[in-house]
Amino acid sequence: MDLSNLFRYKKVVYSLEVFPPKKTSSVDTIYNTLYGLRGLPADFISVTYGAGGSDTQRSKTCEIASLIKTEYQIEPVSHLTCLNSTKDDIRRTLDTLKEHGVQNILALRGDKSPTVEPKEDFQHASDLTEFIKNYDAGFNVMGACYPECHCDSDTLDEDIDNLKRKIDAGASHLITQLFFNNDHFYEFMDKLVQKGITAPVSAGIMPVTNKSQIERTVSMCGASLPRKLSTMINKYADDPQALKDAGIAYATNQIIDLIANDVRGIHLYTMNNVETATRITGSIESIIKSSNRV
Ligand code: FAD
Repeated sequence: MDLSNLFRYKKVVYSLEVFPPKKTSSVDTIYNTLYGLRGLPADFISVTYGAGGSDTQRSKTCEIASLIKTEYQIEPVSHLTCLNSTKDDIRRTLDTLKEHGVQNILALRGDKSPTVEPKEDFQHASDLTEFIKNYDAGFNVMGACYPECHCDSDTLDEDIDNLKRKIDAGASHLITQLFFNNDHFYEFMDKLVQKGITAPVSAGIMPVTNKSQIERTVSMCGASLPRKLSTMINKYADDPQALKDAGIAYATNQIIDLIANDVRGIHLYTMNNVETATRITGSIESIIKSSNRV
């Protein structure tokens, strides 16, 4: 199913994100995660793609996306990065995705690595978006966006002008980088409208359940931590259960506020944590249902 159609009849689209197991983990971990997530009312599940990973690791994304579709009858989205790929690499991946019935792709540039020299075929996600649409118009392409600005851009205005290129190249729907202050999201949405971007945007929400993990993530992606949240993280840093409960409550409140303010999509970064995803989804399920009834 082309997911862009979902936004025509649903007020709120709810999605989950998982990642393939790391080299050091058993492949069974992701099968267990998907089994654990199977009953949640997700409109789609997206699977990340290791930008600089090996071919075997990358092929896992396709395998997992295919499993989500065949085993759990949930629409998968395969992430796909381009910075370290040639056009031939991407053609091969698109052929494999098509063979597995994966129609929806989150087209990404990927992060620059100090140790890997990028290939020259693709500079930006908009190049990949255009390439996919020209290769096979049957793919639905989505893109990433950054309410607090991508770290390669000097200003949010510049970043949004570049985002418009992604939309013009054929991206039908956007998913945001994680953020912890909904006001950043609302200001961003106002700017998109001013710049003529009307594609639906899913808000990326990451529950904080581990202090060092969130500090690492935030330092990599540039999202800011509001004082309310950093106070909470510091207070419960040494009590994993308390931090998890507080982090779940914080993410749940963020989502409730977003839905009350007519956000079109919620994308939960599950971090492959079934318990966290299940508890948050359980708390917002009636709210999503209520919005979709109106
Ligand atoms: P782009 O859209 O290319 O933007 C990158 C920078 O270039 C921005 O500053 C932008 O303003 C600028 N730019 C864009 N187009 C132009 C242009 N035409 N001219 C000049 N400047 C331009 N990474 C992974 O490796 N695997 C994943 O699975 C993955 N999933 C992600 C999912 C989401 C929802 C998000 C938000 C990010 C994800 N990432 C993933 C991280 C992503 O790869 C990095 O943030 C990367 O640095 C930028 O990717 P992009 O697709 O947004 O790039």
